[in-house]
Amino acid sequence: SDSHFPIPIAPSEVDYTIHYPQIFPTCGEVQDSKKIEFADIGCGFGGLLIGLSILFPETLMIGMELRDKVTEYVKERILALRTTNPGQYQNVSVVRTNSMKYIPNFFRKGQLKKMFFLFPDPHFKEKNHRRRVISLQLLDEYAYVLAVGGIIYTITDVEELGEWMKSCLERHPLFEALSAAELQDDPVVKLLSTATEEGQKVARNGGQTYQAVYRRISGYQQ
Ligand code: SAM
Repeated sequence: SDSHFPIPIAPSEVDYTIHYPQIFPTCGEVQDSKKIEFADIGCGFGGLLIGLSILFPETLMIGMELRDKVTEYVKERILALRTTNPGQYQNVSVVRTNSMKYIPNFFRKGQLKKMFFLFPDPHFKEKNHRRRVISLQLLDEYAYVLAVGGIIYTITDVEELGEWMKSCLERHPLFEALSAAELQDDPVVKLLSTATEEGQKVARNGGQTYQAVYRRISGYQQ
């Protein structure tokens, strides 16, 4: 249960020295200068983070994963990569947590530039839809932690879930879809279907995928 893992009481209590020891060798004010900007929600085995770490070496990023063993695996994977590639992969980390409950404990208002929801669990039954990681209610929370202009990336191989995620994003007043040209120009979009373990499995089986990529917009009329 949740009681088995520590939860920071506020974003200021997230210990960056543990997650990014080379970038934050000691506690202190340094921490205020740089913040986590990408979050991979339900990161699984961490393939996306590893790909993003190289694409955005100056950006701090974190995976959030509920399963203990999977989280430990990702930790080990990152440590091994840091050891074999000195100076690299210092900007990536993982935390075991329930993202449906604790996002505001980790990130301040407007802190994040990108959030990822890659191949989330489908929760097919209607009574379990409230367990889906994208919902109108949770989008309020994601809108809160995302900066204006920040982007939510979602992808799934389950058509019904793809439609669900898209319709939630479409109905939410603080998100707008990226244009086809913007999707084309964004190097991250290519990673959605190729970088994660789940994406690779779907690709091997020749499965179709459904993505929805939306921008956090300002709530005020410009
Ligand atoms: N994104 C990865 C990928 O594409 O390979 C993993 C996809 S896997 C189907 C979904 C993951 O979300 C699982 O690892 C699961 O443990 C995690 N998960 C489910 N609910 C979660 C929650 N509330 N908070 C954090 N992680 C969660």
